[in-house]
Amino acid sequence: MTDDKPLIGRLALVGIGLIGSSIARAARVNGLAGHIAISTRRQETLDRAAELGLGDSYHLDAAEAAKDADLVIVSVPVGSSGAVAEAIGPVLKAGAIVSDVGSVKASVVRQMQPYLPSHVNFIPAHPVAGTEHSGPDAGFAELFQNRWCILTPVPEADPEAIDRLAAFWRGMGANVETMTPEHHDLVLAVTSHVPHLIAYNIVGTADDLEAVTQSEVMKFSAGGFRDFTRIAASDPTMWRDVFLHNKEAVIEILGRFTEDLIALQRAIRWEQGDILFDLFTRTRAIRRGIIEAGQETAAPDFGRPHGKPAEGDKSA
Ligand code: NAP
Repeated sequence: MTDDKPLIGRLALVGIGLIGSSIARAARVNGLAGHIAISTRRQETLDRAAELGLGDSYHLDAAEAAKDADLVIVSVPVGSSGAVAEAIGPVLKAGAIVSDVGSVKASVVRQMQPYLPSHVNFIPAHPVAGTEHSGPDAGFAELFQNRWCILTPVPEADPEAIDRLAAFWRGMGANVETMTPEHHDLVLAVTSHVPHLIAYNIVGTADDLEAVTQSEVMKFSAGGFRDFTRIAASDPTMWRDVFLHNKEAVIEILGRFTEDLIALQRAIRWEQGDILFDLFTRTRAIRRGIIEAGQETAAPDFGRPHGKPAEGDKSA
């Protein structure tokens, strides 16, 4: 910020895991908030956030953190967002922005909106950036750099508040796009949720073939399996909630995926190499498009250095 006054006066972060703590760090580094109030469910996590110096005040009670806040960001598993809204709803000040970071949007709107007073601006959001690590130690200030943050404001939200939240995310290095919660959920089912399910499934299948898993799978994992294991190491609570709360879109996309997989099975059975070749040519071009869009590098090892920040950069 070039201005002396930060964009946000009091920022309340409810949930201080990978995403919440990355916001705390990025907001601090970029001078985006005057005061950062942190709240989390367990004393242990709160103590760790304090040790890391992530905020200016620490609260076990989410309402205490959210009181007088100009911006509240809820960063908890999506299945818990309704309970958080119920806790903070009564204390929210007029004009405050209430947002979240959940990987599913329509369900978050359904869960949170009933508890939020009409005098706040409810602007759910999803930073499409993450890693397979969890907790306050896992976060880092650069997580959102050149990643997309999708805003799904409710129709009543004040455009000025939407602009302010977009400026907050841009201030942390993100690009911002706005869409409806339903569209978000369909797009993310294709780009993130179903790919995670496939990874969970293939790693589970390999594990079921125990005799192989104990030896050859680990040894020869660089043949592709290794990258699935990274995705399948993602947080079980978070991902359970994602699938339970984006049920319709995931089932819809899985149906399409299954049909396409059967078509590939048939092509292999009947040795229709041209079908396989055409698909693999098309998918290679998609990969090039992702690199050109700056969402990946062309470096070997999927462009992932072995240091902390870029390791396992996946988009949830
Ligand atoms: P995380 O590192 O596991 O942190 C979760 C936070 O939520 C912790 O502060 C935890 O508190 C709190 N929490 C857990 N269960 C709760 C409950 N039942 N009630 C209230 N608080 C609870 O998780 P994260 O990766 O930051 O994910 C947070 C949100 O970001 C999720 O909605 C996820 O969909 C979304 N997201 C994640 C990624 C990713 O790659 N991880 C990317 C984009 C968006 P305690 O530790 O005190 O129990």
